[in-house]
Amino acid sequence: MPDFSLTEEQSSLREMARKFARSEMLPHAAECDRTARFPEEIYRKAWELGLMNLNVPTEFGGSGLSALDICLIVEELAYGCAGMTTSIIANCLALEPILLGGTPEQQHRFLDPFCASYQLASFCLTEPAGGSDAGAITTRAIRHGSGYQITGEKCFITNAPHASLYTVFATVDPKLQHRGITAFVVPRSAAGVQPGKDEEKMGHRASSTSTVRFEEVEVPEADRLGAEGEGFALAMRTLDQTRTPIGALATGIAQAALDHAGSYALKRRTFGKPIAEHQAIQIKLADMATKVHASRLLTWAAAARIDRGEAATLDSSIAKTYASEAAFQVADDAIQIHGGYGYMKEYPVEKLLRDAKLTQIYEGSNEIQRIVIARELLKQYA
Ligand SMILES: Cc1cc2nc3c(=O)[nH]c(=O)nc-3n(C[C@H](O)[C@H](O)[C@H](O)COP(=O)(O)OP(=O)(O)OC[C@H]3O[C@@H](n4cnc5c(N)ncnc54)[C@H](O)[C@@H]3O)c2cc1C
Repeated sequence: MPDFSLTEEQSSLREMARKFARSEMLPHAAECDRTARFPEEIYRKAWELGLMNLNVPTEFGGSGLSALDICLIVEELAYGCAGMTTSIIANCLALEPILLGGTPEQQHRFLDPFCASYQLASFCLTEPAGGSDAGAITTRAIRHGSGYQITGEKCFITNAPHASLYTVFATVDPKLQHRGITAFVVPRSAAGVQPGKDEEKMGHRASSTSTVRFEEVEVPEADRLGAEGEGFALAMRTLDQTRTPIGALATGIAQAALDHAGSYALKRRTFGKPIAEHQAIQIKLADMATKVHASRLLTWAAAARIDRGEAATLDSSIAKTYASEAAFQVADDAIQIHGGYGYMKEYPVEKLLRDAKLTQIYEGSNEIQRIVIARELLKQYA
């Protein structure tokens, strides 16, 4: 049996994230959800505590945490507010291509400032014509002088209106499909970079999401990550790393839903006794707890595989798919246990359902995850 006991350091990391989530995030979660406020003061505090650039090694001033450490933190943060967590961990997603594909010089040039002061970055892959078929993106990178000129539009980009840096995927030749995709680092200050207005979203409303338009943006060759045509593989390797924390984020939502449902069931009385004494409610709570437990273990197993340096595509896709679907079901059950009150915004559980939904869509939809799972699985039978 693998040993899933946490080290002392991991337990204290988890405790620190739990304290931050419950004292700094949770008290503002309902208000930010209602007003779609982007609580930058909370994100700054997260940065100050080292809860932001979790995957950036200490040599660049980052937290330098293992995949399992990151999952422990993300689950706790999501318990406080999933939307805030999406914005806090967006830096991990945006900076991962630099970690995976940047030269040491690029890594220092781009990562050091993120660890020296609070800044946000965005990962720009998805386009209005489609996100799942990342090989078909149309944003162009045309050779221009000693560098490139980038033109195109990205959509659904987390933190885009607030970011100072974008990792951008563009094609040097659409005919080459995924083999033409190339990754670049583009500063917000470059002429022609135009983030759009915040989208009005169903959930994760404390997070900011918008389009980004690149209009003949000049990018020096020194800001290209890897060689021309290596961008698609870089994007996929990035998502292989960042998908597992989405399983943790979904687990945090599910744990919050279970906790709300459990304590409500002990207080709410029908037919002369707490509803927790009705067997139908007990069975629901038991199923919810089983899903939370399984989500956590799948996520930890995928993270442990990443930390051992093993291929984790199958495990991370399974963890993300299972945990995101479990979170939606557990949040749904929590609403059911709250009865009519669960449907009211005055209670916290309807937000959890709206927040859980996104985890089935972003970082590769669950349909795409199932394609990946089946492809990896069938390799074993070939
Ligand atoms: C709030 C939010 C934040 C996001 N943040 C970012 C970000 O920071 N950076 C970024 O680049 N992207 C981001 N995304 C984009 C997200 O990753 C995409 O929405 C997602 O990959 C799906 O792409 P799509 O929306 O274009 O759906 P489509 O690709 O159009 O798919 C539509 C539906 O068809 C299904 N489908 C597609 N192809 C197949 C197939 N072959 N077989 C079966 N079903 C299929 C999909 O699963 C989906 O259900 C974000 C999205 C949201 C909503």
